[in-house]
Amino acid sequence: MTKQTIYKYVFAVATITLVAISSVLYIQNNWLRLENSELKHSSQGREQILAKKILLLETTYADTIVALELNEQEKENLADKLKKEKDKLEEIEDDYNRINDTVGQLVRLSETDEELLQKYSKVYFLNENYIPDPLGYISQKNIFGSKSLQIHSEVLPFLREMMDDASDDGVDLQILSAYRSFQYQQQIKQTYVTIYGSGANKFSADQGYSEHQLGTTVDFTNDTIGSQLSLFESTDQFAWLEKNAYKYGFTLSYPKNNSYYQYEPWHWRFVGKDLAKYLHRNDLYFYDLDQRDIDEYLLDLFED
Ligand SMILES: [Zn+2]
Repeated sequence: MTKQTIYKYVFAVATITLVAISSVLYIQNNWLRLENSELKHSSQGREQILAKKILLLETTYADTIVALELNEQEKENLADKLKKEKDKLEEIEDDYNRINDTVGQLVRLSETDEELLQKYSKVYFLNENYIPDPLGYISQKNIFGSKSLQIHSEVLPFLREMMDDASDDGVDLQILSAYRSFQYQQQIKQTYVTIYGSGANKFSADQGYSEHQLGTTVDFTNDTIGSQLSLFESTDQFAWLEKNAYKYGFTLSYPKNNSYYQYEPWHWRFVGKDLAKYLHRNDLYFYDLDQRDIDEYLLDLFED
C-alpha cells in the first residue's frame, strides 16, 4: 500500500466516524429535546389542572364562607323571632293567670255567704228562714251539760284549735250555746217574754240571737259558773279569750259600753283571722267598722 492510499483510507474512516458520531449526537440531542418538551408539556398541564383545582377550591371556600355567614344571620333572625314569640306567649300566660285568679276570687266570693260578716242593726237583720250551710257538731268534751250543739262546719276547726290551746294553757273553756235556729230562738224569746214581760228591749234581744242563727257565734262558760253568764266577766276563761281569741278569728261582739247591745263578755263571733287581728291591733270592735270595710275580709274569711 502506498503512503497516499493509507492517507486516503485514514481520511475516509475518520470522515465516516465523524459523520457517525455527529449523527448519534444529533439524534441524541433531538431525543432529549423531545423528552424535555414532553416533560415540560405534561408539567405545564399538571400546573394548569392544579391551578384550576385551587381556583375551584377557593371559590367553593368563598361560597361556603358566604353561606355560613348567611346561616349565622338567619340563625340570629330565627332566635329573635323565637324570643318574640316566647315573650308573647308569656304575656298571654300572665293574662290567663290574672283572669283565672280574678275568676277564682269571684267564684269564691260568690260561694261565701255574705251574711257571715254582716253587721245587724235595727234596719238590717237576719232573715228568719236563714240556715247556715253546712253545720257540724261540736265535740261533747267542749260542751257544758249534756246537750248537742252545732256550728258552721268551716268555723269548727278554728274553734277546736282555740279550745285545745286554752286547755294547754290550763284554761278549760266550755260552750253553753252555739248555733240556734230561728224557731229555737222564738221559743227562748217566748220564755223571756213570759219571765220579763214584753216591755224590755225587744229589738236588742232579736239582734243578739241573729248572730247565733248564723252558726258562727258561741257563748262560752266554765264548769264553775255554768249558765250564770253574768259571772263570766271575772273568769280566767274570759281573760284568756280577751288576750287570745283574735288569733283564732274570734271577736267579742258586744263589749262594755257599746251602743248596739248589752255587754256580753261570753258572746264571741267568728269573723276570720285577718279581720279579728285587725280589730285587736287597732283596739276596735266589729260593730265599730263600716260594712264596706268589713266586706273586704269576706274573701279570706276561712283562710288559716
Ligand atoms: Zn250569745
